[in-house]
Amino acid sequence: MTRLDRAIGAVLGSAAGDALGAPYEFGPAGELTARGEEMRGCGGWDPGEATDDTQMAVLVGESLLEHDGLELADVFGRFQRWAAAAPKDIGLQTEDVLTSGEAWDLAAALHFQINARAAGNGSLMRASTSAVYFAAAGREGTMDAARRIAALTHGDRAAWEGTAVLHELVRVTLDGGDPLAALPEVLGAVHPDHRARYGVVLGPDWHPGLATEFNGAVWPCLGSAVWALRTTTGFAGAVRAAVDLGGDTDTVAAVTGTLAGALYGQAAIPPEWTAPLHVPLPGYGDRVLDAEGLRTLARSLAGGRA
Ligand SMILES: [Mg+2]
Repeated sequence: MTRLDRAIGAVLGSAAGDALGAPYEFGPAGELTARGEEMRGCGGWDPGEATDDTQMAVLVGESLLEHDGLELADVFGRFQRWAAAAPKDIGLQTEDVLTSGEAWDLAAALHFQINARAAGNGSLMRASTSAVYFAAAGREGTMDAARRIAALTHGDRAAWEGTAVLHELVRVTLDGGDPLAALPEVLGAVHPDHRARYGVVLGPDWHPGLATEFNGAVWPCLGSAVWALRTTTGFAGAVRAAVDLGGDTDTVAAVTGTLAGALYGQAAIPPEWTAPLHVPLPGYGDRVLDAEGLRTLARSLAGGRA
């Protein structure tokens, strides 16, 4: 398997997980298996329709490519344009920050100052494209980029650190490494104030039943994705396990799909999942990316930035 297969797997896998999980959002555990029906339309989503997770990931990826690097103000502007066009779904925290009217470098911090709760999984969910792009920048480079993109909408450092961990796990995996074996070392690169808490949810014995928050929070979301990877043996099994957890199914599956796609490569993603896959981009005319559009985006991003 080539590095490019893994890079495409991360971007496409995240989108596939997002679309698979979308109809089950906030539902009970085990619903996907109980229904035995995959990529069904429901809850306002068409079969194969990707949600805000993938829509925002595409916006980040296109900004990186057009600017040949990270222009945070541009990423924020793209998010705002998208948020103003009434996407079908948008995280509460993300919406508050993007519509606050504050400047890009203040909005999230001000929101956090007032609300003191900003450790949602909303920056983790959209990280597949930036993780692929910055993988070439090394551990410090990719973790730093992850933190800065996360901080555009999330003022809580917990969200930055979780996103940085995901970036680094993708980097290791694209290089052919084992993301689970890399966890102890990756934890060492987490900000000291946040290391212990991530150490718990990323530990080998942790499982989603031990979560102390709803999986819309960054810690159990990332922990559940790693658990899904650890307890299954292929892409589809990992992503199904994530959706079957219930709760924030699209996002837990999108994060799982990022990791599992990088690990198992694009060929492991079921074609019956990628065939109906499509990503509308509210605010950007009638643009809709299909699986081939996501592959093209991933190929360009995999060129990366050293
Ligand atoms: Mg979503």
